[in-house]
Amino acid sequence: MAQLSLRGIKKRFKNTDVLHGIDLEIGDREFVVFVGPSGCGKSTLLRLIAGLDPISDGDFFLNGQKMNDVPPSRRGIAMVFQSYALYPHMDVYENMAFGARLMGLDKPEVEKRIAEAARMLRLEPLLQRKPRELSGGQRQRVAIGRALVRKPAVFLLDEPLSNLDAALRSDVRLEIARLHHDIGGTMIYVTHDQVEAMTLADKIVVMNAGRIEQVGSPRELYETPANTFVATFIGSPR
Ligand code: ADP
Ligand code: MG
Repeated sequence: MAQLSLRGIKKRFKNTDVLHGIDLEIGDREFVVFVGPSGCGKSTLLRLIAGLDPISDGDFFLNGQKMNDVPPSRRGIAMVFQSYALYPHMDVYENMAFGARLMGLDKPEVEKRIAEAARMLRLEPLLQRKPRELSGGQRQRVAIGRALVRKPAVFLLDEPLSNLDAALRSDVRLEIARLHHDIGGTMIYVTHDQVEAMTLADKIVVMNAGRIEQVGSPRELYETPANTFVATFIGSPR
């Protein structure tokens, strides 16, 4: 189960406030998509949830447990980055095994999990390849697979399609939707692409300049945008 509560989350870098107090509830197994223009604080918020950066003010709870000071490796949260961040000298299998070994899993369990992830993401024929021998879409599937072998309760995906060309983008988008359906984890997905948001989300969070403008289903945002910013961003007729 993975139910997240963000209460008054603020982030300040030196003397710049980037997040001004984010309040949000995310339900178990929900697919939540954060949208908003470049620089509005989407990646920063994901990094706080993952524990890669400290929260300046406010609290973050996972299943009722305060997580502010829990190290990233103990949160049960995995993040997939826009840039894949694969190890170039390791093959696909080793890339996927690396994080699982750090968790202290024994070899047979690591093998089992990699086989499962490779099957789900159709990576079986690619396990011996190095990242440079893969297409962009395949690399991103490996990056997702690497997160998957950790069996996180929460997946964070930061613009996972933005380095892919249009054809691959729809492939990997479908893969992510299928993965959410199959594993039933909670997904938090960042994009600045309205089409991705509208097609993937149970719930969309529209951000602007470090604040939440509106939260709702794709249909609610389209039919009843709270303001002109949301209407323009979602492309609704208001
Ligand atoms: P988004 O992902 O929505 O494009 P970011 O979360 O990356 O936006 O950035 C939000 C703001 O925070 C930007 O103005 C960015 O310059 C600033 N910012 C992000 N990371 C840092 C950092 N490590 N130090 C200083 N400012 C940062
Ligand atoms: Mg970003």
